[in-house]
Amino acid sequence: MKPTRLWQISISTSTQAEEAVAALLERLFGQSASVYLPHDSPQPVVTVFSGKRNENARAKRAAIQAGLRHIAETGLDPAPAQISIRRVPREDWSESWKKYFRTIEIGPTLLIKPSWSKKKARPGQVVVVLDPGLSFGTGQHPTTAFCLRQIVSKRALGLPPSLLDLGTGSGLLSIAAAKLGYSPVRALDSDPVAVRVAKANARKNRVAHRVILSRSDLTRLPVRSKTRYHLICANLVDSLLIAQVRRIVNRLHPDGVLVLSGILENQFAAVEKCYSHAGLRLIECQVQNGWKSGTFAWVTQP
Ligand code: SAH
Repeated sequence: MKPTRLWQISISTSTQAEEAVAALLERLFGQSASVYLPHDSPQPVVTVFSGKRNENARAKRAAIQAGLRHIAETGLDPAPAQISIRRVPREDWSESWKKYFRTIEIGPTLLIKPSWSKKKARPGQVVVVLDPGLSFGTGQHPTTAFCLRQIVSKRALGLPPSLLDLGTGSGLLSIAAAKLGYSPVRALDSDPVAVRVAKANARKNRVAHRVILSRSDLTRLPVRSKTRYHLICANLVDSLLIAQVRRIVNRLHPDGVLVLSGILENQFAAVEKCYSHAGLRLIECQVQNGWKSGTFAWVTQP
């Protein structure tokens, strides 16, 4: 049998369009796409590998260009929208995507590494092993990295501090928190695939018994809640954060802090205004590659 040709298709795009571009590549090639930020450029690169037969590079490029035009028509600017298509030698296939997944260190405290990495932890450093999969959250994205830094730095909140992870994706934040001593750790996601992946990742990291994971939709949780958490991480989208402000803040402990992430820089002011009205103030924030994340605390304890 003739070996299947393998292609690596990458598009350099904008932060606002990265998700739409990833969805386009997934639709065209039937494979999950990965997004990474090159060290030398602020533009995210979306990549997919394809082994489909009977498709030439010109046809692929035309289909991508049509998809990018459609994205632009919906109001998201995908510029620079540079497309790169290259043949990958078959023997490279299983290895080539791995280079996008670096190990991540959150100071001397936390190391996140894929299972193939040989990097050794520093003495006392907590290790989370996580391979890229179908669910969001390998720590590579600035929004996830901000949440991880907050989880590391807020370990002193309460003894032990409790954590609520709204939209857990791969489960990374909850797994790291459980390993760092947070308890209880509760995580939810409305996507059944995410919950399955997060459960498997928690098992691989031997914290399945310490992370309470459920498939739930934030918008359907009771508005009020008796249980309150010292740290809440919500790496969601701005519209959801604004619409669900009550459900979110009603779960925050009087001494707790709330981490809001997944917000494009130009949408942050609206989110901050909404949470200020709810009685919180911004105590820390960070802008990276067009994403702005913030940590909030109560102005006066509720
Ligand atoms: N916490 C991870 C993943 C964030 S991606 C990280 O920081 O990297 C956002 C996740 O929120 C996705 O897995 C998505 O399925 C989930 N999500 C989106 N809307 C939701 C909702 N209404 N209720 C619960 N989860 C939701």
